[in-house]
Amino acid sequence: MIIELSPHATDDQTVALEQRLADPRRRLARVEYEGRRFVTVSGLRDDIDRSRLAQERWIASVSDADLKTFFVRSSFRPGGTVIPLGRTELRAGGDLVVIAGPCTVEDEAGLLATAKAVRSAGAHALRAGAFKPRTSPYNFQGVGSSGLRLLAEVGAKVQLPVVSEILDPRDVQLGAELLDVIQVGTRNMTNQALLGTLGTIRKPVLLKRGSSARLEELLGAAEFIASGGNLNIALCERGIQSFDTVTRNTLDLSAVPALRQMTHLPIVVDPSHATGRKDLVRPMALAAAVAGADALLIEVHVDPASMVRPGDAAQALLPHELEDLLRQLEIVLTAVGRKLARS
Ligand code: PEP
Ligand code: MN
Repeated sequence: MIIELSPHATDDQTVALEQRLADPRRRLARVEYEGRRFVTVSGLRDDIDRSRLAQERWIASVSDADLKTFFVRSSFRPGGTVIPLGRTELRAGGDLVVIAGPCTVEDEAGLLATAKAVRSAGAHALRAGAFKPRTSPYNFQGVGSSGLRLLAEVGAKVQLPVVSEILDPRDVQLGAELLDVIQVGTRNMTNQALLGTLGTIRKPVLLKRGSSARLEELLGAAEFIASGGNLNIALCERGIQSFDTVTRNTLDLSAVPALRQMTHLPIVVDPSHATGRKDLVRPMALAAAVAGADALLIEVHVDPASMVRPGDAAQALLPHELEDLLRQLEIVLTAVGRKLARS
């Protein structure tokens, strides 16, 4: 349940409301967005007389008792969410942003070479993983926090904002200091400790869809962050599990226009992890642009053969392939009345 206070409600009235509802069987939290103040109620709600509350002069509205998502819904911010990203912005319904980079931070020379290539191809942000969530404990787990520092340094050198994944709530603060966007990976979409911590900061979050998560579940995960006070969230479709083994996952492109109707958050598509095959990245990236994606996440590497995890090489574009893709994106975007974000 979410109670919105009237704009003229005083702090004392908010405290009085919280005292009135205080009960060990429920949790109350305050959230403020754009000058609007809310008290959220989780846990026991059946004993709350909603219609009586709604009649109070200093209460603007009371939501349905069992409402699952509120702040991430389109109705909360009809104008769409805008996330600043370096010289450009990631905006729901805005110009297309391209986020590119290697799967992982390996060494400085390699990262810098790929970063420069990505920048000159026209990408808007650099992404590379320092903490890698893996399906097997015997796979390369990433270089850790030193990788975040290296990424921040390289991003500053090539003048691109940087994006990287955080796995552990204890690393969120470091991520917030070093990164422009914190990624939550597929395997962590339901990690509520992580989502809750991300709600306490204001750093933008790129939230990837769980590989078997419904869109309502993705929005529910975003609401965990938003209910803490951080609505700087972009959602990412990165393929869902299906029975086919030709592609790594199945890219659910219908998620893009469907999410557009459900949420004000920007929508990102990751054709690299969705397909696992570089020959499929270009067609799916173009299709995502037509479907209305606000950003693309593309894996690129200057020398895929040298990658620590050879399995990731199959989906990495070479820099000249990224350049070609950006050229084609411009053509396709023009045809549907859109354009690339300025870089
Ligand atoms: C990644 O972005 O490098 C990654 C591991 O992706 P996902 O969480 O979508 O599997
Ligand atoms: Mn990867």
